[in-house]
Amino acid sequence: MKKCLLIIDMQYDFMEGGPLAVAGGLSLIPKIQKITTEYDIIFSTQDFHPKNHIGFASSHNMTPFTQKDGEMLWPDHCIENTKGAQIVAELDNCIPQKNKYLKGLYKTNGYSIGEHAEFMNMIKQFDQVDICGVAFDYCVKSSAISIVKNVKHTRVLTKLCKSVNPQDDAKIHTELISAGVELID
Ligand SMILES: [Zn+2]
Repeated sequence: MKKCLLIIDMQYDFMEGGPLAVAGGLSLIPKIQKITTEYDIIFSTQDFHPKNHIGFASSHNMTPFTQKDGEMLWPDHCIENTKGAQIVAELDNCIPQKNKYLKGLYKTNGYSIGEHAEFMNMIKQFDQVDICGVAFDYCVKSSAISIVKNVKHTRVLTKLCKSVNPQDDAKIHTELISAGVELID
């Protein structure tokens, strides 16, 4: 059985010290690094936005972490070709360049790698995809729900994920399970 690891958005802007820091993000780095040796192949997603991205509060002259039309507005983050958009060096070294997939370049919130047609087609070759990274409650969740449509065993490694709002984790677990995603502690 071919199995792969998908590392979601482990980029500097989402780590402690970044503009959209996910608490505990840095603590995931050595843990994810450690398990990379267990997989046939490693992929990653990378949040990658134009300066005036639709998901930025600044693009609407609004305050970050408020909502517009039911969509959360974020501080500017992961702007294309900036240091903040880079994958943390310790993990970047584990991922072949051709296995890095960008998302969020278009007029969508960019949470799910499901918007990337080439990735979604490529991933069909696997029987199992294990997913880790940040943020659990946005990009990990949305990507897993897209991928499970193409890969029977789509599993989220919950101990290797961190959320923007950890108090909502139980609700997110329920959403993932209803979609057919397996949760691994
Ligand atoms: Zn983003």
